[in-house]
Amino acid sequence: MLRLLAAIVAVLLLAPAPDAQQPTRLVVIVVLDQFRADYLTTFASHWRAGFKTLLADGAVFTRAQYPYLHTDTCAGHFTIATGTFPRTHGMVADNWWDTGARRLIECTDDDQSPVVTYGRASKLGKSARNSMAPSLADELRGQRPGARVVTLSMKARSAIGLAGRGGDAVTWFEEGVGVGSFVTSRAFAADQVPAVRTFLTRDSFESDFGKFWMLRDAKDTYRYPDAGIGERPRQPWTGLFPHEIRGTTGSRDDAVGLWRASPFGDAYLGRMAADLSDAFQLGRRDATDFLGVSFSASDTVGHPFGPASREIEDTVARQDDVLAGLIKYLDDTVGRERYVLALSADHGVADVPVTRNGGRVAQEDVRERIEDILTTRFGPPTGNTRYVISGTDFIRFAPGMFDRIRSDASVMTAIERGVTAIPGVERVLRKDQLSERSTDPIVRAAALTNFEGRSGDLIIVTKPNWPLGGRVAAEAGSHGAPYDYDQRVPVILFGAGIKPGRYDRAATPADIAPTLARVAGIQMPKAEGRVLSEALR
Ligand SMILES: [Zn+2]
Repeated sequence: MLRLLAAIVAVLLLAPAPDAQQPTRLVVIVVLDQFRADYLTTFASHWRAGFKTLLADGAVFTRAQYPYLHTDTCAGHFTIATGTFPRTHGMVADNWWDTGARRLIECTDDDQSPVVTYGRASKLGKSARNSMAPSLADELRGQRPGARVVTLSMKARSAIGLAGRGGDAVTWFEEGVGVGSFVTSRAFAADQVPAVRTFLTRDSFESDFGKFWMLRDAKDTYRYPDAGIGERPRQPWTGLFPHEIRGTTGSRDDAVGLWRASPFGDAYLGRMAADLSDAFQLGRRDATDFLGVSFSASDTVGHPFGPASREIEDTVARQDDVLAGLIKYLDDTVGRERYVLALSADHGVADVPVTRNGGRVAQEDVRERIEDILTTRFGPPTGNTRYVISGTDFIRFAPGMFDRIRSDASVMTAIERGVTAIPGVERVLRKDQLSERSTDPIVRAAALTNFEGRSGDLIIVTKPNWPLGGRVAAEAGSHGAPYDYDQRVPVILFGAGIKPGRYDRAATPADIAPTLARVAGIQMPKAEGRVLSEALR
């Protein structure tokens, strides 16, 4: 009798539930670099299929916003991928002062993980070593052995951010002088990944050199005029279409730079995403795979031309085509009921300052002002050194100096007065006065970015439309401020398990990873974002 009961139980356990859902076979994250939330409506007249499908059939979070202070590519991608904030994952900015190395490093720098190139040699080393939190892809690989991970971008920090510590084809473009090649690193592969090499050989990006970037749509359908105010086109381009992918001197480096800063780069990544998905059979096996693609052209075009330019308008119109192609490809090969996709951005962008009665704050001015105040108070620094060792919006002092400064209220007051006297500077925050429970939203935002030894001893906050940058920064569009234009980005979920609609509850891009994990049936115990359960079936 017992044996019979056991047999019946065994049969019941093995039999699939009659209404069992199809398992999610593929998790996709698409990031648009420097894509402000309002672009979805501002440029809606250009949507034909990609954004149109996502807005109609996806779950759209209308109030999605980064809650932290320094909005850039590295911080954004690691927040999206890990579901944590910079104070936890530690990737506080694209660059920070590294005390050990005594230089400004890039967030993904890692001497122990040399770049593996598919083209020209590079001396760099790159990995996610500096990240303190596991990514969704890391958790997937850990909890679902056999999961395959493919990520692509024009930037190292974007491809590595989406992947995390491992992956089958983590591929990015290295722009460096004399390099200009797709690469991976030893953190991900001991040697070239054959499928990537095959694609790069068959579909060479250099065949775009000499082509012209023309308008995608009829001239009179564009909201913004050509050659807008404050544009800073890359040489030899002017503000006027068309733009040729060819440098003045005909050098390869020039062509590479123009190509990467044009929609040709996005289109190329779109083709690569489909090709590598085929090669790795993503979503078509008895496993749950991960595909991450970060399209960079909206940033590499947005910086020189700004958000109110015909160039950015055309770039996002073409991103609509690339997204349409990716969605159709995934529908055809995986099936919409078997993949889940999230679309977001790493940060937004400020309007060209002069068009908003704003201006620019030079990092050098801030740094020199502080250095002068400290020299007046303490005398010249000993040896060939400075009191301020690094000055972006994160001010870092020489070892021991911050404690010396804060022990003397008059010095701190002098710094605050001196720096806020610079036009465009709103305030100076101290790392020892940050709290996530503050009633002051800027202090809360700074607390979420605060990571000892990487973010600032002091943090400079500028006024809206007063971007902080290098003295000779030749750019129209800038980002990194704690204001809506930088913090508000799209968050759209689409596909398996997602209930379409518009959702007005507060959300952040850190909610993406825990939500996708829930859909895929895995855990993200370290995530700080919430599961966007209102949009789940
Ligand atoms: Zn940027």
